[in-house]
Amino acid sequence: MGFYMTNFAVVSLHSSPLDQPGSGDGGGMNVYVFQLASALARLGNDVNIYTRATSQDDPARIEIEPGLRVHNVPAGPLAALDKDELLEYVDEFTENVIARIQIDRSLKPDVVHSNYWISGLVGHKLKHFYQVPMITTFHTIEAIKAIGRTVPDDRVSESFRMDAEDQIAGCSDFVLASCDQEALDIQRYLGLASERIAVVPLGVEHAYFAPGDMAMARSAMELPQNDPISLYVGRIQPLKGLATAFEAFSCTLSDFPNSRFVVVGGPSGHLGEVELDYCFDMARSKGFEDKIIWRQPEPHIRLASYYRAANLVVVPSRTESFGLVALEAMASGTPVVASSVGGLKSLISHGRTGLLAPVRNGGVFANLMLELLSTRERSSMIARNALMQARTYSWKEAAERALSVVESLDVRQLIECG
Ligand code: UDP
Repeated sequence: MGFYMTNFAVVSLHSSPLDQPGSGDGGGMNVYVFQLASALARLGNDVNIYTRATSQDDPARIEIEPGLRVHNVPAGPLAALDKDELLEYVDEFTENVIARIQIDRSLKPDVVHSNYWISGLVGHKLKHFYQVPMITTFHTIEAIKAIGRTVPDDRVSESFRMDAEDQIAGCSDFVLASCDQEALDIQRYLGLASERIAVVPLGVEHAYFAPGDMAMARSAMELPQNDPISLYVGRIQPLKGLATAFEAFSCTLSDFPNSRFVVVGGPSGHLGEVELDYCFDMARSKGFEDKIIWRQPEPHIRLASYYRAANLVVVPSRTESFGLVALEAMASGTPVVASSVGGLKSLISHGRTGLLAPVRNGGVFANLMLELLSTRERSSMIARNALMQARTYSWKEAAERALSVVESLDVRQLIECG
């Protein structure tokens, strides 16, 4: 596309990049949208993020830093809505984005970047309206979520979302995948040729997530000084596997009766509440509820201290397109025990930069947690390797890769839908 400053229209309809991640719809996608956009702006691009206004107090436009703005665009009620209630407002949202660009021509995009399938529906319309390329990051695809879950978690039918994802993939000039596994899944389930998929691994904010003194971190976060601490960070919903972590933790208590399990985060979606109740009940019925320390979602600047305070971090997800929590823990010098799925398999080499367990296997998770708690040398060696591995990931690099994809696109040869 040439070597001029590129104007990105980044669509994140269902969730603002300024929301606190860790519960509800706020998770890795919010971090990704914000950090990638910020890194693109710092490389000299103009980035406008369009999200849905959810309150009458939301300013229409927020200047974040030079080249980076968040636009709160009205569509439907000025209130939080479930993701699956948003479909009926896709057209209104799109029209209002276009109306805003009509008023301020400096917002006119050179490229559209859609995040998540609902935003892809908007991006598809913007692409054709402005005749510019669209790149898409799916974050999750329905076919993979469907494998990991046992009951439906969205009211939108699986087949509707799958069809929409097919169409969005078909209309995207390029799809950004977070890891090799996601790229393969997109080829397999959305039928996209590998030439139209670029693997762009996520980054991590090294300024926050860096090793630090465990005792100081524990005292700052008001955590016990001497007990072994295992940590779970993130949204609570069946796919994130907190129940597996609880099961594993309960098995470690006979060896480490003083150990504690810290949960930072809150429920996501209606099944998040169900999962939370299930975990509460398990802790109560197995008699370890007094070992669990619950904390509300925390901003990154404070989350860093939780990672430093922990002896290990558990990432028991059933599916994971990347796994930012694992990378943040690694960058903080804390060893990770994670499920052997998706992006976690790219991040962690078992036995060297972390430990991997089969999905939903509480017994294996327990053994690996015990391995880290009981062998300090092994735990330190893994933490050191993990830190070195984490240092190879940066948002600047992610932005450079995304930019090189955009620069390879020719506006005269846009992909025709289909
Ligand atoms: N997060 C946070 N505060 C919390 C819990 C989570 O900022 O209290 C962030 C966490 O630091 C990470 C993101 O939410 O950057 C979760 O991303 P991940 O890829 O692990 O999971 P996802 O939410 O995408 O499923």
